Amino acid sequence: MDVDAILKLDLNSEDEILKWCAKYGLLGILPEQASLIRLPARYEVPPGLPDSRTLLRAQVVYVKTHIGWKGVDKTSIGPKSPVLELEPGETAEKYVEPAGLPASLEASVLTTSALFSEEIIERGLAEGLSMYFPDVADDDRLSHDYPMPLSDRFWFEYGESLEHFRSSVTQFRTMLENLKDIWPLDSAPEEALRNLVFGRNQLHTILSPRPALGLGVDGFESKWAFSSLLAMFTLAAHMSLVGGETVRQCKRPRCRRLFMTPVKTKWYCSERCRRSEEMARARRK
Ligand SMILES: [Zn+2]
Repeated sequence: MDVDAILKLDLNSEDEILKWCAKYGLLGILPEQASLIRLPARYEVPPGLPDSRTLLRAQVVYVKTHIGWKGVDKTSIGPKSPVLELEPGETAEKYVEPAGLPASLEASVLTTSALFSEEIIERGLAEGLSMYFPDVADDDRLSHDYPMPLSDRFWFEYGESLEHFRSSVTQFRTMLENLKDIWPLDSAPEEALRNLVFGRNQLHTILSPRPALGLGVDGFESKWAFSSLLAMFTLAAHMSLVGGETVRQCKRPRCRRLFMTPVKTKWYCSERCRRSEEMARARRK
């Protein structure tokens, strides 16, 4: 995984973005931001009692764990559990829980945060999730049986809008720009130092590699789990930075692209930019 891949991408070209996604995949904005998804409650007949007129409350909850996501389908069983008695002629299908739940019952929710932020926000499912599921009809935005993040069905249904993709990549680049080389820190201007610390905090919010234990043919294998593709690129940036690479902005005025380089004397993102600047300079003489 090379940070350059995310720095070089031309965000103005829809075509390039599509090609990029075909090669690397989607950024994983939702799995990166979300930490808990609780779907609306369902009311179902108790297992093994298909003719029951009493329905039990069940609810699917997805939680982000250290190495992925965990899904639980909780059915409330017990003397204090909420039940629903069907009226004559009513059926269990498509029962929607009425508003104004008792406080002890958990309503549907999406617990999330903005990218590069640690502030936790609670949002409604319809507004928070539906933008990532373009095929869900408007009427189904709340009641849709949303798949668990990172599951096969998730990748089948999940999507990221161009606008969302562009803004996430731009935020990634801004984070990296904040991490420009300003050493020695003792003599760095205060504002540059503030940006550096801010950039580092941003990077920390999204740096999530977790060691995992793989089961290989001959024994255990070392594996790493990431919360998203964006998190993989963040680790790549981290490795480049601690490996001595510097974040630079191309000196050619018409380019100004961000790039990383181990070479302290490199000021242009590419040979092409360097040469066209030299030619422009020669023409000016
Ligand atoms: Zn350039």
